[in-house]
Amino acid sequence: MDMKLSPEQLKLRSAARELAEAEFAARAAEIDRTEAYPFDNVAALKTAGFMGYTIPKSYGGRGGSYFEAALIIEEMARVCGATGRITVEANMGAISAVMQYGTEKQKRLGADLVLSGDKPAICITEPEAGSAATEMTTRADKHGNTYVIRGKKHWITGGGVSKLHLIFARVFDERGEEQGIGGFLALGGTPGLVIGKREPAMGLRGIPETEIIFENLEIPEDMLVLPPRGLRRGFADLIDAYNSQRVGAGTVALGLAQGAFEKAMTFVKERKQFGRPIAEFQGLQWMLADMAVALNAARLSLHQAALSADPFPDPLLAAQAKIVASETANMVTNQALQLFGARGYSRDYPLERMVRDARMFTIAGGTAQVLRTLVASRILGTKIPQTRNGYMEAVQAPSLAAK
Ligand SMILES: Cc1cc2nc3c(=O)[nH]c(=O)nc-3n(C[C@H](O)[C@H](O)[C@H](O)COP(=O)(O)OP(=O)(O)OC[C@H]3O[C@@H](n4cnc5c(N)ncnc54)[C@H](O)[C@@H]3O)c2cc1C
Repeated sequence: MDMKLSPEQLKLRSAARELAEAEFAARAAEIDRTEAYPFDNVAALKTAGFMGYTIPKSYGGRGGSYFEAALIIEEMARVCGATGRITVEANMGAISAVMQYGTEKQKRLGADLVLSGDKPAICITEPEAGSAATEMTTRADKHGNTYVIRGKKHWITGGGVSKLHLIFARVFDERGEEQGIGGFLALGGTPGLVIGKREPAMGLRGIPETEIIFENLEIPEDMLVLPPRGLRRGFADLIDAYNSQRVGAGTVALGLAQGAFEKAMTFVKERKQFGRPIAEFQGLQWMLADMAVALNAARLSLHQAALSADPFPDPLLAAQAKIVASETANMVTNQALQLFGARGYSRDYPLERMVRDARMFTIAGGTAQVLRTLVASRILGTKIPQTRNGYMEAVQAPSLAAK
């Protein structure tokens, strides 16, 4: 695996850093304080070609790889976590699923929206179906050429600001027989797509997470993007595409941690106690060394996963990378706060925001525990339990019982 950046990739990373430093760094604290979605930042990302950077050129994008997108995302998150996250969702996850599995019409719709500045929303999680996502109860009933969706999602990133929604529901045919889980496209503002309560999130407050309630939302059948092929295939296709989002989310965590680390490095050289810069204390040097080691491991793991894409990142590598990056981000941002002393704990300084921003990444998009289950199932060669019965079968499987 060649991880040496080409001259073009070095140029891309420099351009991303320049934009982030010039346009986004100074706004990050205000975005956190006002909890306002950063439309100005989105406009600048759009001008730079970073909204829809991974969309094929034939649809108006740059045709960039996930690896290149990761270089951009890290630079955004290094100065502003919210902008990093927008960059992920404009290049990975829902839009990747649409561009891979969609019909021509669906691809055009998705590409046009993202290239004009939309950050799509992906609607999976429900109050009673979190990690056990396939236990969702939102249903789509077929009536002629239309599906009628009823149910409730929560913690949907972009609720109220996103235009394109990729909605997952149990699909029933006209006889009322279940076909499995499918994915539909709908636009924000469509009657029946109701934005509920905004979640009072701990960090990354510039992007809303909300409930979304489907009150007999009518979706034409040509907006079924991931048909329920077999009982679970539509959902499995989504999870394949979702591995790109896991790499993206891990990269936001990495960028936040890198930003916090650099701030700590500057601070320890300037701050004097006992008549010398605190960087001279060996205990702190070892803290910094541990942070640098963890950052390097997380970056390599993420880049390895991004480079494995064919067309999506390998599930095992993506899970490993997200675990390493999200846990590194929690450790590094917390240690950076510690190195700042009381200033780290102050809202006048950026460290407390960075700690809060980093906290979500071991939870959203597959918790660190559930991703470990995925890793374990891959290395043991067992199936991932996805249902109550499936879980019981998996834990009682003879191959595991024998060990
Ligand atoms: C900031 C943020 C943004 C989000 N954005 C979106 C979004 O855009 N779209 C969307 O659909 N969802 C979104 N989510 C939801 C997110 O994907 C879920 O929170 C996540 O999947 C976990 O589900 P849960 O919160 O219900 O926790 P639960 O599944 O209830 O888990 C609770 C605890 O139990 C553990 N656990 C559960 N099952 C197992 C198991 N089998 N083995 C071991 N441990 C287990 C978990 O790791 C966790 O520690 C977002 C969440 C957050 C915090």
